[in-house]
Amino acid sequence: MKPINSMSLTLSDSIATRKAVHAVQKPCRFCGHQLNRTFVDLGMSPLCETYPGPQDLNRMEPYYPLHVYVCEQCLLVQLEQYESAEHIFSDYAYFSSYSDSWLRHARNYCEQMIERLPLGPDSFAVEVASNDGYLLQYFVERGIPALGIEPAANVAKVAVEKGVPTLIRFFGADLARDLAAQGRCADLVLGNNVLAQVPDLNDFVEGLQILLKPTGVLTLEFPHLLRLIERNEFDTIYHEHFSYFSFLTVTRILEAHGLKVFDVEELATHGGSLRVYACRAEDRSKSVQPKVEALYRQEAAAGQDQVAGYQSFAKQVRQTKWDLLDFLIAARREGKSVAGYGAPGKGTTLLHYCGIGRDLVEYTVDRSPYKQGRFMPGNHIPIYHPDRIQETRPDYVLILPWNLKDEIMEQMGFIREWGGRFIVPIPELTIYS
Ligand SMILES: [Zn+2]
Repeated sequence: MKPINSMSLTLSDSIATRKAVHAVQKPCRFCGHQLNRTFVDLGMSPLCETYPGPQDLNRMEPYYPLHVYVCEQCLLVQLEQYESAEHIFSDYAYFSSYSDSWLRHARNYCEQMIERLPLGPDSFAVEVASNDGYLLQYFVERGIPALGIEPAANVAKVAVEKGVPTLIRFFGADLARDLAAQGRCADLVLGNNVLAQVPDLNDFVEGLQILLKPTGVLTLEFPHLLRLIERNEFDTIYHEHFSYFSFLTVTRILEAHGLKVFDVEELATHGGSLRVYACRAEDRSKSVQPKVEALYRQEAAAGQDQVAGYQSFAKQVRQTKWDLLDFLIAARREGKSVAGYGAPGKGTTLLHYCGIGRDLVEYTVDRSPYKQGRFMPGNHIPIYHPDRIQETRPDYVLILPWNLKDEIMEQMGFIREWGGRFIVPIPELTIYS
């Protein structure tokens, strides 16, 4: 994938082009249609995965609009891109291996694919955006040749140390052609939670198609827009996620690049995700499963096959903000202390949209050593080691990665010893004692 503004323009050309683009048009990332219709406007927010260190606290931080549109032509829900992908992802702070449940998910996926496809020592699996090797390690363990592609050098390095071969590159049609020319097309191409982060969607999907062997299988996992709307997961909207997919739009995008969807599974990960199975359009060896048609019908029943179905989301999001603020302000007025748990990207969106700073949430904690000693973007809520909770005994712990709430409430169950309670803000404010 080649980020738009790294193409062979000179700097002044690039700035002039960008100004002109912003003045007159906002083309849809997939179909090019003009974007006019707001899905939700979350105001201005800093980049959610750039955690300032103590030395950065007196520096300016860029804020960008979190204004989401729905394309009236193809119904792709999307943000405009405000930063180059290189800026956002070259020193990415998200290490997948710090979540136990995510690792279990990755191991199960590998076992399932080894059996279903099947995969063996003569197969080849490629993961796009392979992060720290959290998933491919299970293929490597079973002797299945694998290759990761990961643009963030600091994260890729961890994968290589684990024995997972990894190319430090952005993925797109160019890289796929290079690999194909070396005879390195794959039996399985997979992309977990990467599609949303792709600025040049058409180039990326073209690359996936090129990389597949004639009877190869592509699997893509991404948060399902149907669930995002239904479960009010507005905090999963952030600058690093440019697009939000329904099953219908993802199918259209794959079809536009010679791929055919033949199966789909609904997963509990990331608040409700889809795993879409696709193959080359001309591959007759796979039959389309009934689940495919059933899911199109489910989306249509929710009104998401028409632009009108995207109209009421903004109102429910505002209600969530008011409820959370009411609760936190009342708790603080009563002299209660509130700490956060986790420093995920979604935490930045939630805290900024709700206007929550250190006056309401004193600090947060995270298991990732990379984040400890740093600060949440923008509001500079400090991030500590989870032991801090035991030391300071807060009255409430606000769980920011609510998708992992069961795991976290189990790990942190000891807060009940001093009467501590958990706050889960999404889908609606819930207090657990
Ligand atoms: Zn469109």
